[in-house]
Amino acid sequence: MPSFQTSPGTRDILPPQATRWRRFVQTFADVVEAAGYDHIIPPMFEDIGVFLRVGEATEIVTKEMYDFEDKGGRRVALRPEQTASVCRAFVEHRPTTPWKVWYAGPNFRYEKPQHGRYRQFDQVGIEVLGVVDPQLDVEVIALASEFYARLGLQGVRLAINSLGDDGDRERYVAALREHFTSRLAELSDETRATLERNPLRVLDSKRSQDAAAIAAAPSMREFLGPDAAAHFAAVQDGLRRAGIDFVVDDRLVRGLDYYRRTTFEFTARGLDAAHTAIGGGGRYDGLVEQLGGPATPGIGFALGLDRTLLACDAEGAFAPPSSRVDAFVVDTTGGLHAAELCTALRRAGVRADRAWDGRSMKAQMKSADRSGAGVVVIVGDDEVSAGTIIVRTMENGSQRVVARTEACDAVRAALGH
Ligand code: ATP
Ligand code: MG
Repeated sequence: MPSFQTSPGTRDILPPQATRWRRFVQTFADVVEAAGYDHIIPPMFEDIGVFLRVGEATEIVTKEMYDFEDKGGRRVALRPEQTASVCRAFVEHRPTTPWKVWYAGPNFRYEKPQHGRYRQFDQVGIEVLGVVDPQLDVEVIALASEFYARLGLQGVRLAINSLGDDGDRERYVAALREHFTSRLAELSDETRATLERNPLRVLDSKRSQDAAAIAAAPSMREFLGPDAAAHFAAVQDGLRRAGIDFVVDDRLVRGLDYYRRTTFEFTARGLDAAHTAIGGGGRYDGLVEQLGGPATPGIGFALGLDRTLLACDAEGAFAPPSSRVDAFVVDTTGGLHAAELCTALRRAGVRADRAWDGRSMKAQMKSADRSGAGVVVIVGDDEVSAGTIIVRTMENGSQRVVARTEACDAVRAALGH
């Protein structure tokens, strides 16, 4: 038994999965940077007040926060999400609007660990501050869709809803409170507690006991004011024009107190019921103001990296790399030629590795096999005297003797580069 193991809800991301993670983030960067989003890296912990602003009635804040007092007596929290940090940064640095940024990195929530739900998990996301145009909502949603397509993920479902404007939402919450209070006896204990704190969140309950009361609840649609209704219609129209499939889900409410108007969620068909959500986002108003800035509308999304990769696994999409290197050098003369050839290959842009400790030809060939290299370069005493190398293509076992000076070109050709 080892003395230590990772803490509950945390994991080592081992090779080759870690490479897959990096490629995931790179693919995301490619998609959003092509649309003019700039990279931002907020700190992983902040004054807890920043996160309290996302809503005192959300589970993220009431139950899941990793907060502590540091040695200087400051109350800080590991970030549970990054929208609040981005808004805090906006207020602190006052960039010109529209401010379009993207981020990637870990978040921390004290949740009950299970498959697809971790205490440290990664997200990639974007935020735009300073734009009310519904066409932006369409762009934001379209970028997430484009990213899923780039990953090769197919079974993704998009649900959208509108939470209306300030007054709309308050009237709806009051109607929900009245509805659920009239059916209190039917609700589970947990949901009754949720009703006290945040009636909107009751709609989120997945407990079968609550299903009937939720199905009979009034719908946000009836409470949308004319501005919010027009905005929502424009978003739907834009999504249709962009050829993006969606369903309107009246029950889709996201917890944060500052969510307004457009809200959306992506789910993956390949995942188990407990955690099908692979990403979500929406508009928010008031968060920048709460953090001490001027009234500024915002919109963004966060996509869960861990869960999206599980969805990819279920579909066999976005596979981890199968090889560490392109070429493996086998040197039976002691290894100095391997060193020289590896350096030359690497400089020529070919990923190259070799064996160590003067192992036998057979042992070195085994290592070559394990490396997944498409090409093996072999150099023994005969090749050294002749000034040649052997280039073997692993796929079909064919091999060629070439001049040592041609090594890089020959390897690249054998790799099809
Ligand atoms: P859930 O309903 O599953 O708890 P959420 O509403 O708390 O999700 P968001 O805050 O909207 O999630 O975060 C966006 C995405 O981040 C989620 O869709 C999910 O893919 C991912 N995510 C959230 N919490 C976790 C977690 N504990 N472990 C892994 N991924 C997570
Ligand atoms: Mg959650």
